[in-house]
Amino acid sequence: MTTLIKNAVIITMDDEKPVIKGDIGITDDIIAFVGKSKDFTPERTINANGNIVMPGLVNSHTHSPMTLLRCYADDLNLQDWLFNKIMPVEDTFTQEDIYWGSLLGCWEMISGGITAFADMYFLNKKTAQAAVESGMRANICRALQCFDETTANFEKDERMREALELYNMYNGAGEGRITVEMSAHAVYTNTPEYLMFVAQTTDRLGAGMHVHISETRRENEECIKKYGMTPTALFKSCGFFNTRTNAAHCVYLSDEDINIFKEYKISIANNPTSNLKLASGIAPTGRYIREGINVALGTDGAASNNNLNMFEEIHLAALLQKGVNENPEEVTAYEALKMASTNGAKALGIEKCGILKKGCRADLIIIDTDKPHLTPYYNPVSAVAYSAQAADVDSVMVAGKFLMEKREVKTLDTEKIKHYAKKKGGAINAACGC
Ligand SMILES: [Zn+2]
Repeated sequence: MTTLIKNAVIITMDDEKPVIKGDIGITDDIIAFVGKSKDFTPERTINANGNIVMPGLVNSHTHSPMTLLRCYADDLNLQDWLFNKIMPVEDTFTQEDIYWGSLLGCWEMISGGITAFADMYFLNKKTAQAAVESGMRANICRALQCFDETTANFEKDERMREALELYNMYNGAGEGRITVEMSAHAVYTNTPEYLMFVAQTTDRLGAGMHVHISETRRENEECIKKYGMTPTALFKSCGFFNTRTNAAHCVYLSDEDINIFKEYKISIANNPTSNLKLASGIAPTGRYIREGINVALGTDGAASNNNLNMFEEIHLAALLQKGVNENPEEVTAYEALKMASTNGAKALGIEKCGILKKGCRADLIIIDTDKPHLTPYYNPVSAVAYSAQAADVDSVMVAGKFLMEKREVKTLDTEKIKHYAKKKGGAINAACGC
């Protein structure tokens, strides 16, 4: 199939030519050209009508089934929120809940221009199934947690068994759109002995790694008190970081931690909304970028955000660093968009993605600029970073196929998803008496 998207303002995210006015030709799932071409014969033509076309957004850290816990527990710190409110309800989640919660997440993400996401949760063969059905790209991992120190029990560990089953069943599924990674949830939910076992298993598989690191000051202080080192140093001492690693949060990295991140080329998934809402703090992403670390952007779960809207994250990623550093040049609009696209693709290990250029993957979005808050605009990069809203996304393409066209999600039964989510929300409400 050959597709021509004509008459577009194209944000390529290619540093050599970030903005081009013209057309994009797509052959199957690959971009054939960007700009103008005389010898491209399209089977279908889409008129972008002067709207903005840019790479699809990459949500580099989320827990999609947590959409079912949206607005369930708010105005609490991470420890109270997680251990006293969220985990007790999560313990009751069935495979069906995970499936429909993941579909709800995919629906929300597609509607807001997200084409790929990195998802950490449990029972997530159902998340993988949902991602395959949605047509999105996804990196999926089973969050491993273990408070047992008996190494003899590790091989029989139920969570690890689940992680390996997920890997064997879904790595490379959905025509290669699904990647299964390994995941240690965090240092405060694991023992060093178990972390070593996780690192060895990850190296044996050659799988990517997705972790939470230094999300709160308390996590750092307790880790240093208990082990005499930071979470990053503890992970390293347990044999982590030999494979591609995506580390969420990183609000409190020391100078030594930053050196480890640089040495091992670890990506950071910045989650500004979640860090603000749980009062965890503000990650110094401007510095991380200057240090040459790949900084991506994520929403975290919908229970600590409370949505999966990358436009809000882009907005905050740029504004927070300017305000905190009293420097308007800190995290520019272009850098914020890069975090949300190119850097995200890199963090997830998706090659030739997050950039609109010949030979790259046809994962892109069309943003409708015929809106009051986008009228007029001068610089399309600024318009997306500072003015655009998630609902302005008109169409979403992954691997050359439209998942949403003119606001209509084509791959999902949205009425069924809504019905299940409302029913489940009612049941949680009834059970907790809220
Ligand atoms: Zn998280």
